[in-house]
Amino acid sequence: MIIVIVAIFGLIIGSFLNAVIYRLHSGQSIVSDRSRCIYCHHELAAKDLIPIFSFIWLRGRCRYCQGSISWQYPIIELTTALSFALLAYNYNLQPINYNLFFALVFICFLIVIGVFDFKHFLILDKVVYPALLLGVVWQVFFGKILDGLLAALIIAGFFAVQYFISKGRWIGFGDVKFGLFLGMVFGVKLGLVMVLLGYFIGALTGLILIFLGKKHLGSKLPFGSFLSISGIIVLIWGERILNWYLGLIGIN
Ligand SMILES: [Zn+2]
Repeated sequence: MIIVIVAIFGLIIGSFLNAVIYRLHSGQSIVSDRSRCIYCHHELAAKDLIPIFSFIWLRGRCRYCQGSISWQYPIIELTTALSFALLAYNYNLQPINYNLFFALVFICFLIVIGVFDFKHFLILDKVVYPALLLGVVWQVFFGKILDGLLAALIIAGFFAVQYFISKGRWIGFGDVKFGLFLGMVFGVKLGLVMVLLGYFIGALTGLILIFLGKKHLGSKLPFGSFLSISGIIVLIWGERILNWYLGLIGIN
């Protein structure tokens, strides 16, 4: 039952994240402005803003001007709901604690950063710095700040080297700042798992796109999006992936 409530909560938060992603780009205020159709600017009523259901009822079109609504909206709502539910499930249905609360907020940051990088090839300071600050608070709270700091330096340092060698062609400077946040949140062990998985997802996506003829070698890919997907997976299943990997190479 708790899982269902968390999933519905995730749908609502996902709807909010869609608005955040749009407004970060359009420059509107995230909290004070009413939601409007991006085509006809008609103010949207509550019945137009119900996650998933409005999209289905309206068949993906604006009620007022018939402008088509992006698939991004239901996809992000569902992704947020699914991530929230899986994360809550993984916390073994314990009563909501700070740990889960932080993890849910990190998932929100990862979704916003990942989708924004996918759409605009950009990781915004005003998103990544608050995320980093929250990561510091989380590690101070759980007494693992040194592990977080070390991982932040290793991962951001690793990205920075690639940034400078490639003069920003492989990796953007936003990814270096994103690396600080990821290291701080995951610590050294899970941080390395996360980065490896991020490269793996990126390489796999690149190969599939080349195979489908949609990209060629040297095409730009949103590295931050791959890291975000990896980050969400590791937040949910990190310890298990780590144990599986250690077992695979014979350490565990
Ligand atoms: Zn409209």
